[in-house]
Amino acid sequence: MTKELRIENLRVAIGGKEILRGVNLTIRQGEIHALMGPNGSGKSTLSYAIMGHPNYEVLDGSVTLDGRDILTMEPDERAKQGLFLAFQYPTAIPGVTVANFLRHAVTNVRNPERKEGEDLIPMRDFRKELRQQMDELGMDHDFARRYLNEGFSGGEKKRAEILQLAMLRPAFAILDETDSGLDIDAVRIVSEGVNRIAAKNSTGVLVITHYERILTYIKPQFVHILFGGQIVENGGPELVKQLEKEGYDWVRERYPEAAQTEEALQLAAKQQQVQGGVQPVF
Ligand code: ADP
Ligand code: MG
Repeated sequence: MTKELRIENLRVAIGGKEILRGVNLTIRQGEIHALMGPNGSGKSTLSYAIMGHPNYEVLDGSVTLDGRDILTMEPDERAKQGLFLAFQYPTAIPGVTVANFLRHAVTNVRNPERKEGEDLIPMRDFRKELRQQMDELGMDHDFARRYLNEGFSGGEKKRAEILQLAMLRPAFAILDETDSGLDIDAVRIVSEGVNRIAAKNSTGVLVITHYERILTYIKPQFVHILFGGQIVENGGPELVKQLEKEGYDWVRERYPEAAQTEEALQLAAKQQQVQGGVQPVF
């Protein structure tokens, strides 16, 4: 059965300011979607809201996975329902190794009924699977013994995420700026990993990016443009080409109201950068 992730009229505020103003988007398992939009247009806001970050206030609308409302679920419950989010700024967890983190996460996602304190998946099976996935991603086995994200390079953080994706086999994966800070070889390796894992598990993927580069490796069937807090354009890969060639000027002209909102968002984003940046933390 193919599952469906459906976002309807989603309105989200942060710090009392409305960022998303009625977003509609449906993703089915096995489909690859790209969400594009300028910096500060609310792309990360969408992913955090879907995952249930407490700072993102849902004002209206719904997000359902196969008809079940996920916005009322705790973040770990959303993961058990088959949602995976790779953050733009992954958090370091000192003292927890990659292997230990993954063994807990995999156990919880695969046995949703498990109670705290009950057995984890057997070490031997887990190790075997982990090694196999690391080999497929060209990762050194020592990597599993390091503390999650602590002192990781940009490329290592992204690979750690793809390893999670491979181990958790979610129905839906949201990848937020997965290529930021990566050199071209790392982008290729990470993208090939995503393509392979998504095809194998029939994962529905939403690639969020303000940059076309990654989309030459992860080829979306559906492309959406987020602008002024709404998805203003839905199309295919031709939209990526058009943005690459012409930028957002034509979007601004076609949607003058959204352009005004977008301008205000951009201004707010700049002010925040001056104040020290916005890197929301779970
Ligand atoms: P994108 O991912 O598209 O670059 P974001 O979703 O990160 O955009 O940000 C959208 C808007 O929300 C920006 O105007 C930004 O300044 C604002 N914003 C993001 N995080 C916070 C925060 N923690 N507090 C207040 N405003 C925020
Ligand atoms: Mg972002």
